[in-house]
Amino acid sequence: MALEQSIDNLATALNRLAAALSDKSAEALAREQKWSEAKTESFPPEEKPLQHPDEDPKPKYTGTKCSVCGELQFDTPSGISCKNGHGGAAPATETAEPPIKLETVRAKLAKLAQAGKQKEVKALITSFGFKKLSAIPAEKFAEVLKKAEEIA
Ligand SMILES: [Zn+2]
Repeated sequence: MALEQSIDNLATALNRLAAALSDKSAEALAREQKWSEAKTESFPPEEKPLQHPDEDPKPKYTGTKCSVCGELQFDTPSGISCKNGHGGAAPATETAEPPIKLETVRAKLAKLAQAGKQKEVKALITSFGFKKLSAIPAEKFAEVLKKAEEIA
């Protein structure tokens, strides 16, 4: 009877194995089903670049530059930052172009005056609403120079 017992045990084991195998193939079938469904949709489903979850996918540039390194700044959930990670750095006050100095404008206008264009120079300055060049605010210097070029 011991042999029969062993055969019974073996049969039970085989049945369990068969059940396990069929379970596995059912799982595989489900995966296949899922795959064929996915194939009918666009694949890959979404064009999404790998992105650290903490990172903002698209930096919202503020139009200012980092006063530490000069890189463009952008808004982050924790405040303003740049690509070098200078979070909270103040925006640089100066623009990309170096500021025009009064001396530069004065030299340019002096040259024009020496060339006999005193009237034009005076008209240019008064066209900005000022009597003297030194009264014109620095942010207008680029415009003054541009107009001076037109006279020359
Ligand atoms: Zn920076």
